[in-house]
Amino acid sequence: MGWQQRISLALAERREKQQFRQRRVSQHDDVRTLCVNDRRYLNFSANDYLGLSRDRNVIAAWQQGAERYGVGAGGSGHVTGYGAPHQAFEQQLADWLGYPRALLFISGFAANQAIIAAMLQKNDRIFADRLAHASLLEAASLSPATLRRFAHNQPEALAKLFSPADGGETLVVTEGVFSMDGDSAPLQELHQLTALHNGWLLVDDAHGIGVTGEQGRGSCWQQNVRPELLIVTFGKAFGLSGAAVLCSEETADYLLQFARHLIYSTAMPPAQAFALQTALRAVQQGDDLRARLQKNIRLFREGAAAGGLAILPSSTAIQPLLVGEEQAALRLAERLRERGCWVTAIRPPTVPPGTARLRITLSAAHQEEDIQRLLEALHDANGQ
Ligand SMILES: *Cc1c(COP(=O)(O)O)cnc(C)c1O
Repeated sequence: MGWQQRISLALAERREKQQFRQRRVSQHDDVRTLCVNDRRYLNFSANDYLGLSRDRNVIAAWQQGAERYGVGAGGSGHVTGYGAPHQAFEQQLADWLGYPRALLFISGFAANQAIIAAMLQKNDRIFADRLAHASLLEAASLSPATLRRFAHNQPEALAKLFSPADGGETLVVTEGVFSMDGDSAPLQELHQLTALHNGWLLVDDAHGIGVTGEQGRGSCWQQNVRPELLIVTFGKAFGLSGAAVLCSEETADYLLQFARHLIYSTAMPPAQAFALQTALRAVQQGDDLRARLQKNIRLFREGAAAGGLAILPSSTAIQPLLVGEEQAALRLAERLRERGCWVTAIRPPTVPPGTARLRITLSAAHQEEDIQRLLEALHDANGQ
């Protein structure tokens, strides 16, 4: 049919299903708010849980790093792109999280793609939580391994997938805190079950790191579990971007041989690795920020419960309000915008059909009055 027609058809289908996605230019002068088309809104859709994207020390470190190291790595880590700031930050992460090694990636998406592609072979199996992030599921379905998904957060469902192994290895994949539901995985049970069958567990803790656990060490630390592969990302609570895998000495060496994203892609800018060290210190010393975030979560949940809102059971910064139908979710988000609150409607295919929702995210940067305004807006918008 030709490229042109294929593209036009795909777009027409998206529009017909009302799933056409568009970006909007948004401007951020601080963490609490954003401006779109010259109008200012309270921002309840960012993942900047501790407000570190605007931290003065982190900004200063990035500037200083740029002066010192330039703005680009100039090559992949295997050539000349691996510098002292990368090495220092990897070491700090490994020490902090109690692993022998950490390897940096330019994003969480890249880390998940690279690791799954490098680890899995034909005859292997990936058992993934049904709600695992797109970067994990996409990598799994591209890999030569067999992908099976198990019911969300149900170790019993995972148990049924193991069968007397007919060769190959098994990787179980889950998240620490789920990005669209805000709930936490039962990591102890998943890890024990996986180990019992000689498999390895990969935990993507993009939304737990910095937020939960002592010093913000994340979901695994909090639940006292050490998965063989732990992914942490820096685009959420750390306020910047990038990611790392925490693993054993030998696994790190293996990934350095076979993870193609590490070999054929320009390394993270050294200035960023330098700034990330300052962000890490802010996270480690961030008990006040985490307490403020927890207070906001409590305020929101108490207010929402009192108002009879259908919020999902989540004790994290991600507070989803289940709506159901896509159009209803879009309309509710629109009414909230009219009331000055920016909240994103999340709909299929990002979440299962019939579970469209508002994904409300809270930050330590929000003030009590911001939460009250959101609750009032939700109350008014719902009553309409
Ligand atoms: C955001 C996210 C990613 C992707 O991380 P980036 O650094 O933004 O590419 C991966 N996994 C999960 C669970 C996420 O929420």
